[in-house]
Amino acid sequence: MPGYRPQPDRDSLGWWERVARRQFAVQECGACGTLRFPPRAFCAACRTEGWNWREVAPEGKVESWIVNRRPFVPGLGDPYLVVMVRLTPVPGCLMYGNWRAERPPEPGERVRGVFTQVDEALTVLDWMPESFIPARPAENPAAG
Ligand SMILES: [Zn+2]
Repeated sequence: MPGYRPQPDRDSLGWWERVARRQFAVQECGACGTLRFPPRAFCAACRTEGWNWREVAPEGKVESWIVNRRPFVPGLGDPYLVVMVRLTPVPGCLMYGNWRAERPPEPGERVRGVFTQVDEALTVLDWMPESFIPARPAENPAAG
């Protein structure tokens, strides 16, 4: 993704720092425990400020997608496909990302987040069909 540089703000900085370390996390309200994404200062459930980061599995289902045919970003090949994913561990949250497959997604398709190191300073999260990823060894239930 040459040319594209995310501009982290106060609320999203922690997310980008975690992505750089290849950790997938969402905000967890410090008062009521509600999970949320994208990052924001206040909990929509209880209006409290203050949060922790909670690591969750980078898994979801394709909710929708767009094919971008206009080169908004210099150097970015087009057309390119951006998916909107509903997170399995946090069904109230939607996340966007580049599509990492040679074919278009299917509605409701199960996907897995994968980290792409763009350059020395930038790592982003893309989405790939779950069927493309080899089966993992048993999960560590203590993780996260
Ligand atoms: Zn809350």
